[in-house]
Amino acid sequence: MYIFWTILILLLVAGLWITIQVNRPLYKGPISNHFNGKHFYYKERSHSIGKMLKWAWEMKTVKWPKWISDRPQPKPEESVRQGDIKVTYINHGTILIQLDGLNILTDPTWSKRAGPLGIIGPKRVRLPGVKIEDLPEIDIILISHDHYDHLDLKTLRVLYQKHKPQILVGLGVNSLKQCQFSNVRELDWWQDYLVTSTSTKITFVPARHYSGRTMVGNNRTLWGGFVIEGNDEKIYYCGDSGYDKFLNEIKDRFGKFRLTILPLGNYEKRWYMKTQHMNPEEAVLVHMLLESSQSLGYHYATFNEHPEQAIDAHEKDLEVALEKYKIPKTDFWVLEFGEGRYLPPIQKASSTSSQGSS
Ligand SMILES: [Zn+2]
Repeated sequence: MYIFWTILILLLVAGLWITIQVNRPLYKGPISNHFNGKHFYYKERSHSIGKMLKWAWEMKTVKWPKWISDRPQPKPEESVRQGDIKVTYINHGTILIQLDGLNILTDPTWSKRAGPLGIIGPKRVRLPGVKIEDLPEIDIILISHDHYDHLDLKTLRVLYQKHKPQILVGLGVNSLKQCQFSNVRELDWWQDYLVTSTSTKITFVPARHYSGRTMVGNNRTLWGGFVIEGNDEKIYYCGDSGYDKFLNEIKDRFGKFRLTILPLGNYEKRWYMKTQHMNPEEAVLVHMLLESSQSLGYHYATFNEHPEQAIDAHEKDLEVALEKYKIPKTDFWVLEFGEGRYLPPIQKASSTSSQGSS
C-alpha cells in the first residue's frame, strides 16, 4: 500500500511539473494583434487535441519508400558574384540562398529524425542533398518556427560552433531550453534586421501556422516567414503556412518578388491542414499574387511525417495547378536534393512572369 501511494504521489508531482513547464511563458512583452500576453495566435485557434486525434484516426497513409539514394550534386560555391542569386535545395526547409556576397541558410536540418532526443519523431527517407561539412561559410541562419522539422538544435549547435552565424528567430524562440546561442536576434512580425556590411535587410513576416515542441503548451513562440531585401532583388521564404490574407499585406509592403520559396508538402487532409500548410495550388496562387519571377518549392519527400499523400504527390499536384493557371513549368522549380541553380537573368525572368500571370 505504501508503494502504491508513493508512486501515485510521484506521478502527480511529475504531471504537475510537466504542466507548469509546458505552459511557462517563453516571451514577455506587450499585447499585440497576435500576442495575448501569454500566447501568440493567428486569427484562428490551433486545432484542439480532439481534432488532432480525429485527423490521426481518419488518416489513410500511403506507403513511402524506406530509403532513397539521390545522385550526388556538385558542392555549393563559396559565394556568388554581386548581382547573382543562387539557391540550393538541401532538404525539407533547408535552402542555401546566396546573394550580396552573403550565404543564408533557412531552417537547417541534418538530423536523422525530426523529433525530440533523436529517437522519437518522423525518420528521414534520404540524406540531406549537401553534406554539412561541404557548406560554404554561413553568415545568417533563418529559423521560421520552433517545430522539430525546422528548429533542429543538434544541427544548429554544429553550425554555430563552426560558422558563428547570426541567427534570426521569432519572439520567444531563444528562451527555449538548449537554444540559447549568443548570436540570436528575436524578431516580431514586420521587424527587420539589417546586415550592415551589405545593407541587406531581412524582415520577419506573418504566416498562418503555429508553434510548439510538445503536444500541449503550443504557441509560446512566434512563427513566420522572411523577406530578404537584397541590393538588387527581393526574396520571400514563406516558412510553413496556410494561404491567407496576410499575403496581400506582404504584397502591399514589398511589391513584386524576384524569388519566392514556397512550401509544397503535408497538405492533406484539407479540413485539418488548410490552416497550417498551403497545397500546391495555393502555392501557385502565392506565386501569382506576389508577381514572382521565379518560385522554388520545398518541404517535401524528406521526413515520413504524416504521409496522406504519395511521396511525389506535390510534383503531380503542382503540375496540375501550373497548367490550370497557365504558368510555365519553368517558373516554379522543384529541384533535386542538393541541386543549386542561379536565377535566370532578370529580363528573361520578367517576360516569363508576365506570360504566366496573364
Ligand atoms: Zn514543417
